Amino acid sequence: MTDKTPTARLHPDTILTNLGRDTPLAGKRETFVNPPLVRGSTVLHQDVDDMRDRIRYAVAGDDTKPITYGIHGSSTQRDFLSVLTELECGEKSWALPSGLSACTTAILACAGQGDHILVPDSSYGPTRDFCEQWLPRMGIRCTFYNPCMGAELGELILPNTRVLYMESPGSLTFEMQDVPLLAQLAKRHGVKTIIDNSWATPLFFQPLKHGVDISVHAATKYIGGHSDLLLGTITAQGEAVGLVRDTYRHLGLYASPDDCWLALRGLRTMRPRLDRHRSNADALIAWLSEQPEVARVLYPALPNDPGHALWKRDFTGASSLFGVRFKPEISLEAFHALSNDTRLFGRGYSWGGFESLMIPSYPKRKIDPTESGHLLRISAGLEDPGDLIADLQAGFARLRAKQG
Ligand SMILES: *Cc1c(COP(=O)(O)O)cnc(C)c1O
Repeated sequence: MTDKTPTARLHPDTILTNLGRDTPLAGKRETFVNPPLVRGSTVLHQDVDDMRDRIRYAVAGDDTKPITYGIHGSSTQRDFLSVLTELECGEKSWALPSGLSACTTAILACAGQGDHILVPDSSYGPTRDFCEQWLPRMGIRCTFYNPCMGAELGELILPNTRVLYMESPGSLTFEMQDVPLLAQLAKRHGVKTIIDNSWATPLFFQPLKHGVDISVHAATKYIGGHSDLLLGTITAQGEAVGLVRDTYRHLGLYASPDDCWLALRGLRTMRPRLDRHRSNADALIAWLSEQPEVARVLYPALPNDPGHALWKRDFTGASSLFGVRFKPEISLEAFHALSNDTRLFGRGYSWGGFESLMIPSYPKRKIDPTESGHLLRISAGLEDPGDLIADLQAGFARLRAKQG
């Protein structure tokens, strides 16, 4: 499905089920519901002229033409990306081997030797490490900014600033950013905007509609949804399309059709999964908020969260990843006793899968780290909420026994 016109007025839920298939929107009836998984490196061509024509289209990133070499992606990558582009309201999307590679490639596409970029202090740890530890090799300088900044961020924009990077809510600390305002501000200064939109999924926030140039996803999380793949995506509009297209090509990037096929399958059920993720998150948060050891739950959908007004204004829903800040008097030993020996909550990195996870988290925030007290991150899965709460109850009993 590459012709966008017939789908223009479809609801996102219908896009999730109908796009990236040969039927029914493409008018084909006698075929399987799901498109085949197509693997391959070498494509055989009709004749020499055909080969030469096709390579021109490939370099131009024209997805409407047949492919000429495996690295340009088979119909499988195209099927997956066509759904994503439509959901994100973008012009073009790319699949990458991990969420992190999508974040770093988007930055590399927009900045070069001698440039300066702005990155929120709340950004995903490995993205932050890339900016601090690897970009200097390219002569790219990075300033971390307080994610709660609004128009005053303009004062940090230098003549050589090329990128304003965002992540909303932030990793581990969940600060919401005023994305429309920052996108406008950047545009006025000729600065490209990139956002890591993984938490919201394309269903709850469409950054490109708010003027952002590039939206990035760790499709590893809710899009895949089953903890069985690693995948990243980039969706762009306007000038950014050419920048990402060229960088992706020159770096030789590629994502396996198997992972794209699984991610497309994940998309089909993303809405009902997210509905259940949310109701489980709400149930856990309601219980956690009543525990005397808990100082605060970090989740922008909560009315008392500092980011709630921005979330309510810009987002149409919330996923199920949240933070739990404990009161400063809770000891490390007691805090660890809660997470050790849980029956249902796994101790594992990543999030957005069907299974619930719980990890102690250690934000790298350096600007205004206003709150103290241990921080737990919970990814609410799809289990029965009563069973999950019973697991939390047992964990809090262990915490209390250690805390004394
Ligand atoms: C997990 C994560 C990534 C990286 O995704 P991987 O596929 O694990 O590389 C990027 N951004 C955010 C916000 C994440 O949580």
